Amino acid sequence: MPVRFQPSARKAIDFAMVEMERIGDPALSSLHLLLGLLEPGAEGSQAALRLLGMNPAALQLDARRDIHLARTGALLAEIDDAPEHVLERAGRISEQCGASDISDADILMAAAQDQATWAGKLLAASGVTPALLWGVFPEARGVLRHPGAPDPLAGIEMLDVTFPPTFAPALPVRTGIGYDSHRFGVGGPMILGGIEIPGDIKLVGHSDADAVCHALTDAILGGAGAGDIGELFPDTDPVNQGRSSIEMMRAACAASEKRGWRVAQVDVTVIVERPKLLPYRDAMRASLATALGLPADCVSVKAKTNEGMGWVGRGEGLACMAVATLIPMRTVTR
Ligand code: MG
Repeated sequence: MPVRFQPSARKAIDFAMVEMERIGDPALSSLHLLLGLLEPGAEGSQAALRLLGMNPAALQLDARRDIHLARTGALLAEIDDAPEHVLERAGRISEQCGASDISDADILMAAAQDQATWAGKLLAASGVTPALLWGVFPEARGVLRHPGAPDPLAGIEMLDVTFPPTFAPALPVRTGIGYDSHRFGVGGPMILGGIEIPGDIKLVGHSDADAVCHALTDAILGGAGAGDIGELFPDTDPVNQGRSSIEMMRAACAASEKRGWRVAQVDVTVIVERPKLLPYRDAMRASLATALGLPADCVSVKAKTNEGMGWVGRGEGLACMAVATLIPMRTVTR
């Protein structure tokens, strides 16, 4: 098991020791360690938190509050707050990653996994769960930045964390928004929401031009903080010519799940003068629900006209807006 620390991890531990002395605490606690991990010098743990949309400064305030509560006896005394167990666990995580030294991201992951410590409880209560951290861990640790490096998470079974009732966190929910529009062209059928809409017009685009799926793809990627459809599928790449947009949407789900977020519900509005979409609405919902792995009542498709105004009103094309709600994945299996 590695016992050497990377410079950023060393910096976090040094900061924890300095804080312990400054505050006048008799021993190092997991909360001091967490303070160190929230310092800007701890680049890996900072990156992990940023990828999860967390504010390290706010977490630091919470850690200081808990340190104060611990000193005044307001936190339960019987808890086994052992920072050495966190560091031992970090060593095992580092070993599983095939690394020769322990990174600050390893320590953060270990702290989140160790639900017996105050730091673990604080992270869980703040929504920084091991399951979410796994999603961003390779990027934060930088282990996948080297071409050809093996997946450090391969073969590692995810822990499913259960929270004691008093620490049940308000689970974070994320929302993403997406928009797309395509011109009409001659010759049907039109592909929308993964189904064929018969008629003599189609949507023109590099892929199959399914604006519903494109808006949904961007909404999912946006909610997960995973970029946008243009980054995943550049229209300059001939491989994407005629690509199925359902496939793109599934790829967005996969990218989102890799970061620990699962699509829970989507809502779509198509703005179009004609064709009238009502007869196809349920088929679109069913098609999207199947692709997203959701029950049909978690997928909404609505259509409305633009009251004859503007380019939509003139029948030049259609526009689509989508919202996706994402929830944390409680168990990640790889
Ligand atoms: Mg598009």
